Amino acid sequence: MVYVVALGGNAIAGPGLRVDYDSMLAAIKSAMRALLPLIVSRDLRLVVTHGNGPHVGLLAEALLRAGDHGLPQPLHVLTAMTQAWIGSMIKHVGEVLTRERGLEARFEVVATRVLVEVGPNTPMKPVGRLYTREEAEALASRLGWVMVEDPRGGWRRGVPSPPPLKVLDVDTVTTLLEGGFHVVACGGGGIPVVENDGVYRPVEAVVDKDLCSSKLAVALDADLLAILTDVKGVAVNYRKPGERWLRELKVDEARRLLERGEFPPGSMGPKVEAAIQYAEATGRRAVIGSLKEAYRVLRLESGTIIEP
Ligand code: ADP
Ligand code: MG
Repeated sequence: MVYVVALGGNAIAGPGLRVDYDSMLAAIKSAMRALLPLIVSRDLRLVVTHGNGPHVGLLAEALLRAGDHGLPQPLHVLTAMTQAWIGSMIKHVGEVLTRERGLEARFEVVATRVLVEVGPNTPMKPVGRLYTREEAEALASRLGWVMVEDPRGGWRRGVPSPPPLKVLDVDTVTTLLEGGFHVVACGGGGIPVVENDGVYRPVEAVVDKDLCSSKLAVALDADLLAILTDVKGVAVNYRKPGERWLRELKVDEARRLLERGEFPPGSMGPKVEAAIQYAEATGRRAVIGSLKEAYRVLRLESGTIIEP
């Protein structure tokens, strides 16, 4: 059996979204401990995917400060960096935790590319930190960045966020799974590439990690897609009067609630969309739940189950 398990970017950062090594290590240890019974299970392979929002933000900022020594590094390079960075930490922690229990599990990280198309109508997504108007104007003229106004006040860099069309490197993931490895893939939503005349070239964009995970889960014909985050599942009237946490959600109902605006685009929206796409394509269930309850969520005892 193969389970695709998506870890939120926030879940692999420390309190206040700190991404210093010790905070990250502690967050990854707690996530992997929660998954340990599945990691050591003989008849199950995990494909762990992960976000990278706070991590890309830090890298971009550090490179800006490095001035001419650091610039320019395209966003797809930063995403590739976070795949190796976070992926290798997951690999180390996974192997150490199993060894400490006298067991053995092997992990490998796949630098995963994802095929997209970018055009004038591609939605934009804000990334990185908030800037003042003056800073934003300076960055726009120096680096050609597109700056977008943020509802919280200030400006952020806007980058195209196209829907993933296809995850490349699926054959590499399959080969590793067949070889007995757990695999880390689709980090940060994958390294976006466009195709021209049969050649893939990286492109300046970011892809949502939940949608990427769903595409990968479908391509692998995985037995379960589990999206783990920092809330216990999917709610209607979230943080409003009449808030209600859902235990089960049929895809038709999920789509109706999505269209009604219950799930915002930058957070719960892509998770529900990802779950719908997987459930419709495979006829199997997806689940959205809390990373803290990971084991119970993967056993479908906690979280919101999206039913085909
Ligand atoms: P991740 O890093 O795991 O991708 P996100 O911040 O993107 O996390 O999405 C999870 C967040 O979605 C939760 O922290 C919650 O605040 C928010 N959210 C928005 N709408 C809902 C909803 N209807 N039900 C549950 N959570 C919601
Ligand atoms: Mg998210």
